[in-house]
Amino acid sequence: MILHRAIAIDGPAASGKSTLARLLSRRLNLIMVNSGAMYRAVTWKVLQLGVDPADRLAVVQALSKMEIGCGIDGFESTITIDGIDPGDELRSEEVNSNVSAVSAVPEVRECLVSLQRDYLKRGDVVMEGRDIGTVVFPETPYKIYMDADPQVRSARREETGEVDSVAARDKADSGRATAPLKIADGAAVLDTSGHTIETGVIAALEILKKQGFIMADEASAEA
Ligand code: C5P
Repeated sequence: MILHRAIAIDGPAASGKSTLARLLSRRLNLIMVNSGAMYRAVTWKVLQLGVDPADRLAVVQALSKMEIGCGIDGFESTITIDGIDPGDELRSEEVNSNVSAVSAVPEVRECLVSLQRDYLKRGDVVMEGRDIGTVVFPETPYKIYMDADPQVRSARREETGEVDSVAARDKADSGRATAPLKIADGAAVLDTSGHTIETGVIAALEILKKQGFIMADEASAEA
């Protein structure tokens, strides 16, 4: 039984999902769940163990021994593996270049999707990723697919100083057999290429209103 509301935000790398999800979580009082951090954390541990990310059986075996801790700090999800928060290492070049291989493993997805759904027991969530509207919460009416021009996205990532082959990740994430990145049924597409952060948030709030999402201030006005 779904007790709370879920806003699903999907899209390719550096399309602005995290920024939007974070701002919506503050504005609408929702838990922000960064599902990519969960795939990154498992990848980090796989690499730490010296397991080949392309060796599916070895990845599954390593996964079976991991204790994955999903928490909430303030408004945001947190992740630990065997009690350790990988912190900045989640965004290392090594993790960036191996996360798509690890996240293509069906057993990894099954495990993390179940943990992602558990967040809905704790409150209303805004979750961002690649398959939130298609697989994690296909029944939610609140779905946004974010996109931006590939050049704009690469430039955004370069500005952060991160080494990240955005195009290669997108190709792998869209081409995999299990839960590929695609526009979910019912999702509204929001292209952020020409948006500032502020105008992007306004556009997203308009989409959510059209999709029937009742904002807290409207609910209290109606009461
Ligand atoms: O969102 P972020 O870029 O941090 O995601 C890192 C990687 O995790 C993606 O490139 C993708 O391979 C994987 N991912 C996924 N499904 C999600 C979220 C992320 O496969 N829901």
